[in-house]
Amino acid sequence: MHLNPYGEDAVNMAAELANRPPADAAELTDRCRAAGLVVDSPGTPEDLRRALEALGAWEKVVDAGDDAERAELVNRMLAEAAAHPRMTNHTGGGWHLHYRDDRQTLGAVLYSLIAVGTALHLSGRGMHRLRRCAVAECVTIFADTTRTGRRRYCSHPCANRDAVRRHRARAAAAPVRSR
Ligand SMILES: [Zn+2]
Ligand SMILES: [Zn+2]
Repeated sequence: MHLNPYGEDAVNMAAELANRPPADAAELTDRCRAAGLVVDSPGTPEDLRRALEALGAWEKVVDAGDDAERAELVNRMLAEAAAHPRMTNHTGGGWHLHYRDDRQTLGAVLYSLIAVGTALHLSGRGMHRLRRCAVAECVTIFADTTRTGRRRYCSHPCANRDAVRRHRARAAAAPVRSR
């Protein structure tokens, strides 16, 4: 995964992992690869521990009360995991920027990628573009990468469920006309 200027792939991967945390290091490795990350050597239990730590910190960013708190929590993640940017062509697929030291393990790579990706996403697209689904009993996290930035639901089923509910609430509140 090359961090694009909007951090989109990294925040989507973070949401995917946070919504359904991997059970072991092998699953973590598989799902990072599926998300497009180049994993040099398979993750270890220590990498899983570090990844879950990163996701825990990231969920606090998602649930922050306001923009200033959100920025502060992202800054803490950056301080924890990011290094000075450097150009690299480690995959031979083109020169790109890394915001971490070379030869990091999977857990450290993930921490840095999630921190930097989230910083790029929020500063590039808008501080509000990270949230949980608007359906009260759904806690699914998503990154809003729509053009308008008004996405409210994690999925179509949740959007439909809420539309039906709002329709019923309106019908119940409406004055009874004739029977
Ligand atoms: Zn790279
Ligand atoms: Zn939902």
